[in-house]
This record gives sequence, C-alpha cells and structure tokens, in this order.
Amino acid sequence: MLGSGVLSHLFLYSYKLGTLKMRLTNQNIQDAVIEAIGKEALPIVEYLKNRRNISDFKIAEKTNMRIQRVRNLLYQLYDNGVVSYIKRKDSVKGWYISYFSFNPKGTKDFVERLRKQNIKKYMERLEVEEKGDLFFICPNFCVRLNLDNSAEFDFHCPECGNLLKQQDNKKTINYIKEKIRELEVAG
Ligand SMILES: [Zn+2]
Repeated sequence: MLGSGVLSHLFLYSYKLGTLKMRLTNQNIQDAVIEAIGKEALPIVEYLKNRRNISDFKIAEKTNMRIQRVRNLLYQLYDNGVVSYIKRKDSVKGWYISYFSFNPKGTKDFVERLRKQNIKKYMERLEVEEKGDLFFICPNFCVRLNLDNSAEFDFHCPECGNLLKQQDNKKTINYIKEKIRELEVAG
C-alpha cells in the first residue's frame, strides 16, 4: 500500500511536469537528447519519464539494451541533467545499485542551455556569411569552401575533382536567420 507521503510526492511530481509542459514539450526534449547524446538515449528517456527510482538493470531489460550501453547512456543523461539517481545497497547481494529518475528541472535547464548554445553558434555563422566573403561549392555538393580554401585547391573539389562554382550565399543567410528566429521563439 502506498503511504500518504508517497502519494503526495507523486502528486507533486505530476504537478511539476504539468507546469513544465507549457514550455518544455516532448519534441524539445527529444531534439535536445538526440543532439547532445544521440537517438539511442531516447528509449531510456521515454521509459523513465513517468517513473521514479528505476535500476539500471531494469532499464536495460525494458529497453532491450545491453547493460554497459545503458550505463554509458545514463551517465551521459545524468551529465546533462536529464536524469538523477540514488544509490542503495542491495541487502541480499551486498552491492550498490543505482536507481534513476527523470529530472524535469534538470531537463528544462539542459534544453535551455542547448537552445542558447545553438543561437550563439548560428549567430557566429551568420557573422561569417555576412562578411561578404565569396563561397564556392562543388556541383556534387561534396564541399563548400571560402575563397582562400578554394584557391588552395585551384578551384577544384578536393573530394571529386569537379570544378567549384561560386555560390550566392543569400539563401544560406536567410536559412541561418530563420533558424535563429525559430530558436528565439522557442524560449
Ligand atoms: Zn565534389
């Protein structure tokens, strides 16, 4: 039977998730996890999202992954703030077992951190694109080089040898601006 302490804790937890939903969507979380850790970590996040204190062994079993892989991914998730854990000594086996939980606050910070990083990254790219440098691309889309690098390869693609073509980077600039706008709206 659940004690009232456990029940109020569960209530508080779902309440917290409810308030977070306004700004932190599943899509946000998924995108951030894929970007920072990789697609492989998604089943773990999905499994843990509405659960608490699940051992790495059980997570491995439920997600059908090898325990070493699960531990590695859990470590990365923990490192990014997406999960938290507690250690408990197993009274029968005598060793310590880690129990993991989804960390809504940490995940929110993680998504926000990544969003800001990406805005910064795109801003830097925009600055480079807007400097008015010339860019050259391979007709097979192997490479995109600035003038100096293109000259180094005598205006031929270092991958396939085709002659490079000068590229109008207006589209690139618009693309980057659009990305920045999307990221700013998401905050
Ligand atoms: Zn090429």
